[in-house]
Amino acid sequence: MEKKLIITVDGPAGSGKSTVSRILAERISYMYLDTGLLYRAIAYRAMQHGISIADDEALRELCDNITIPLEMGGDMRVLIDGEDVSDNVRTEEIGMLASSVSAVPAVRDALLPLQRSAGKYGGIVTEGRDMGTVVFPNADVKFFLDADVGERARRRYAQLVENGGNANIDEVKRGLELRDYRDTNRAVAPLKPADDSSVIDTTGIDIEGVVKMMVVIVKERAKEVGIQSR
Ligand code: C5P
Repeated sequence: MEKKLIITVDGPAGSGKSTVSRILAERISYMYLDTGLLYRAIAYRAMQHGISIADDEALRELCDNITIPLEMGGDMRVLIDGEDVSDNVRTEEIGMLASSVSAVPAVRDALLPLQRSAGKYGGIVTEGRDMGTVVFPNADVKFFLDADVGERARRRYAQLVENGGNANIDEVKRGLELRDYRDTNRAVAPLKPADDSSVIDTTGIDIEGVVKMMVVIVKERAKEVGIQSR
């Protein structure tokens, strides 16, 4: 079987990871794994069931009931207890809860095998906070996307308004800063660039510009390891 790459994309909230990772995956016909969606699904269910973040056992059980039907192209979906909750979890509130749930070591441990098995044959673009450092330390290509917090807040605000939400840009910015602080300072799998990652500051660069930079790096790597790429 032809070898396919594992490509990781890490970075803070609003850095453009999800959008560019999805487009990159489509462009090179790879799967797309959005691991933030897993933590969001756990946070959503924990909120619905009143499960405390101190209850390791109950949280682990939620993790055991997550499934991700990976398909080529389009958005990723996440199911918990067989229910597709993908459209319920992409809110700022759940993002904030996810950043608490994701600092619980039992949750991170429980979600590790699921993420690794999704990438076991390669051919995947996987995004999150610890893809290049913890989940796929031997990935073939690692990116770390960042952007000025003001720009990240503007992007997130525009997204929320476009989706019909009611948002305040200062609140969105404070939320991003709090989430970054938690994600960067937690004891397990903190947000940081892997030593061997290509760091891209996306401030002032549009989506297509970022994707093009990534495609160049991916093609170079593919050539190095002797893979034909489109
Ligand atoms: O990327 P997204 O905003 O959907 O992630 C939601 C939260 O899930 C993040 O703020 C972070 O706390 C957590 N997360 C994580 N590790 C990942 C992906 C997401 O801790 N690999």
